[in-house]
Amino acid sequence: MSKKREAKSSKVKTGIAFFDAKDYDIASFDEANKDGEFEIKYFDTKLTPDTVKLAKGYDAVCVFVNDTVNKKVINALTKKGVRLVALRCAGFNNVDIKQAAGQLGVVRVPAYSPYAVAEHAMSLLLTSIRRIHKAYIRTKDFNFSLNGLMGFDLHGKTVGVVGTGKIGRVFIDICRGFGMNVIAYDKFPANDSGIDYVDLKEIWKKSDIISFHCPLTDDTYHMVDEKSIRAMKKGVVLVNTSRGALIDADALLEGIRKRKIGAACLDVYEEEADVFFEDRSGHIFEDDTLARLISMPNVIVTSHQAFLTQEALTNIAQTTLSNIREYLATGICKNEVTV
Ligand code: NAD
Repeated sequence: MSKKREAKSSKVKTGIAFFDAKDYDIASFDEANKDGEFEIKYFDTKLTPDTVKLAKGYDAVCVFVNDTVNKKVINALTKKGVRLVALRCAGFNNVDIKQAAGQLGVVRVPAYSPYAVAEHAMSLLLTSIRRIHKAYIRTKDFNFSLNGLMGFDLHGKTVGVVGTGKIGRVFIDICRGFGMNVIAYDKFPANDSGIDYVDLKEIWKKSDIISFHCPLTDDTYHMVDEKSIRAMKKGVVLVNTSRGALIDADALLEGIRKRKIGAACLDVYEEEADVFFEDRSGHIFEDDTLARLISMPNVIVTSHQAFLTQEALTNIAQTTLSNIREYLATGICKNEVTV
């Protein structure tokens, strides 16, 4: 805590440098901090090696999915006296956990609303296969033609779910409600779950729809590539609400061009960090792969929106502040991320 800020209040408050702050973050964190326990400084910039200097004098930094917490940033944070990186999300692939070990703590929000993400995955799927995104624009223009809007029933289709953790399981329940046949792959299957586990090859081979709910790791990086796409059913629908880099975007584009992939529903994109969460309308768009994907009639892109529900934001804010309180007071936290 800086001397300047200490001087402002008689009781020294825990200082949090909050990066990549959006209006909805500020609203939910201010509500969770309405008793003023923490001094939160919101920065709209992302945390990067260039912006890390802003964290000087704060006890903790609060970051999201596209902030950079690499070796350089971690070393700089440590030098500036920061003791904790508090992720306000579940995934932590953007943090160099090995580098952080022994230098500063890393905490996350492991669960805030698996329903938010699973329901968004199903929304994308339904929108895509029932052509709602096209119908919406047509009827807005008083065009009531049905040509080109034919979809297919989900009932009786096989959905392959990759990753059967909190979100994957909610998604499985939703799919079962639709009368779908669910098969799943998980590196660490839960044997008591009643889930029909198969290997990845079978997921590719048998699924009409594949939905991704596993973390981004060395194992899962580009698990959808030219080779796996070749092994999939013609017309397969891919749904990714997990992390963009599970899918090789160029291979996906090629699969769509070749009519192998029937549709793609993407809430995440491997190069999203420089694009998502900001209004880019009116700008010359530099990412040709994403521009081409968005131009496809059978691709739906949302900009990492799956988590964005009132319930999730409230839980994220409350859990993040409780993680910070717990870690800074005791040096341990149940939501700590370790190597
Ligand atoms: P979780 O930890 O509860 O479940 C992840 C599951 O993936 C676990 O069952 C784990 O065993 C499995 N897994 C690990 N390695 C695997 C591998 N190599 N292959 C297959 N499965 C593997 O996590 P969760 O809360 O269900 O979240 C899943 C993912 O969703 C997160 O990692 C995050 O990337 C993403 N997510 C996205 C949003 C969004 O807004 N789009 C929001 C929250 C989470």
